[in-house]
Amino acid sequence: MSGGDMAKPLLSHRSMEGDSSTPATGRTIGVLGSGDFARSLAVRLVCSGFKVVVGSRNPKRKAGLFPSAAEVTFQAEAVKKTDVIFVAVFREHYSTLCDLADVLAGKILVDVSNNTEINHHKESNAEYLASLFPACTVVKGFNVVSAWTLQSGARDGNKQVLICSNNQEAKRTVAEIAQVMGFTPVDMGCMSSACEIENIPLRLLPAWKIPIFLALGLFLCFFTYNLIRQVIHPYIREQKNKFYKIPIEVVNTTLPCVAYVMLSLVYLPGVLAACSQLYYGTKYRRFPDWLDQWLQHRKQIGLLSFFCAALHAVYSFCLPMRRSHRYQLIETAVKQAVEKKMNIWVEEEVWRMEIYLSVGIIALGLLSLLAITSLPSIANSLNWREFSFIQSTLGFIALVISTLHTLTYGWSRAFDENQYKFYLPPTYTLTLLVPCTVILARVIFSLPCMQQRLLRIRRGWEKGRYVKFVLPSATGEYSSGETSSNV
Ligand code: NAP
Repeated sequence: MSGGDMAKPLLSHRSMEGDSSTPATGRTIGVLGSGDFARSLAVRLVCSGFKVVVGSRNPKRKAGLFPSAAEVTFQAEAVKKTDVIFVAVFREHYSTLCDLADVLAGKILVDVSNNTEINHHKESNAEYLASLFPACTVVKGFNVVSAWTLQSGARDGNKQVLICSNNQEAKRTVAEIAQVMGFTPVDMGCMSSACEIENIPLRLLPAWKIPIFLALGLFLCFFTYNLIRQVIHPYIREQKNKFYKIPIEVVNTTLPCVAYVMLSLVYLPGVLAACSQLYYGTKYRRFPDWLDQWLQHRKQIGLLSFFCAALHAVYSFCLPMRRSHRYQLIETAVKQAVEKKMNIWVEEEVWRMEIYLSVGIIALGLLSLLAITSLPSIANSLNWREFSFIQSTLGFIALVISTLHTLTYGWSRAFDENQYKFYLPPTYTLTLLVPCTVILARVIFSLPCMQQRLLRIRRGWEKGRYVKFVLPSATGEYSSGETSSNV
């Protein structure tokens, strides 16, 4: 994007203030094509106060599909009546519009088209349109909005309309139209961004790919491990058929493992970043790409952790509903009656379960809070301190409480040799590995000597460099000084 491009605001002050006399309203807008997108666009434009003229190859047949306020006529007629024309036609049909080149000269063409594959063509559709009509000004826009969103109103869908063009004036005109229609125009710069804009609707959860694969990988590992311990081991060693455990019990012991480890993976990259800063004594050294990527995916990893924890809660609620559970209860009661046992109350077990459930509920509550505050609409209403308090401090507390939940679940099982099926330790001991490392590291970093050093580094101090620094003291006052690495 050129420097001058960004220098001017995309929207004039008049339109930003929502002035009813804005030049956008009341103007005539042309739409080429009479398909789904053209119809929805025409409806929305008419509702927003524009005059609409639709250019079709067969206006008689298509007129009934449009609101009566919109004029449906032949393509050439429509084009003559307006300066701004939305080209609601697929790229492969652009060349059929070449007959209109003379009447289109000097007009603004809005390319709304999408592709079927990412980077399908060498040049973007908008650049291709511009090459076919060199006498026109092409603006890329509205392709990220679906026909459904246009029909249902901007309030019911994505409000952002990404716009790019080499002509600032044309871009401003289209942005004004988008704003009057109730959308938020976003200036994406010059025409070279068109390709990126055209790829956006084709991307499938780009930020979620790595976290989802991570969660699936962890799920698969823990599921196999639990399957071996809970189903395969009793089958091989005692010829007991425990395969009924697979759909609920094995899944329910796997989900908390994934949730817990994923939660620790939200905080582990922060620890690694701090280690790197402490080791190199600077914050100006770039993190390796994998760490950068990891830091950027923390939100998605955290949300997936919450998702697994919520599923674990639902599965746990359903445990007593299972027929197998009822049979086991009756079996235990009968055994008790046969053995004439009156009191089966084990005080330690009762306390363990009470604490286990209580900390589990608190951990889930905190995770819900983290998930809610990561939603953009909520996050935007928080200032940086509030956001970092919730995501960093409360998140870390959630990790500590989840650790307590895991420890109360395990209790003394780690010391019981019967728990080592095929010499495999209980699953919960494995899950503790990463979270405990993270907690330990955070405790070490909170020691005054470490905290001070990290704080200095994060404020620009560098090992081996003689720099002036200003630091808040313990009392909150600022003290300044000069230092070098050897100080
Ligand atoms: P559509 O329903 O198939 O409509 C395409 C229209 O193009 C036809 O109705 C036709 O209107 C016109 N056309 C002009 N010359 C043509 C030719 N030679 N052969 C066939 N048709 C010709 O498609 P659409 O869903 O409205 O999509 C139109 C454009 O909007 C596409 O570029 C698409 O990528 C883009 N878009 C669509 C959506 C969506 O939700 N549908 C969302 C974003 C972007 P006449 O017969 O009246 O000439």
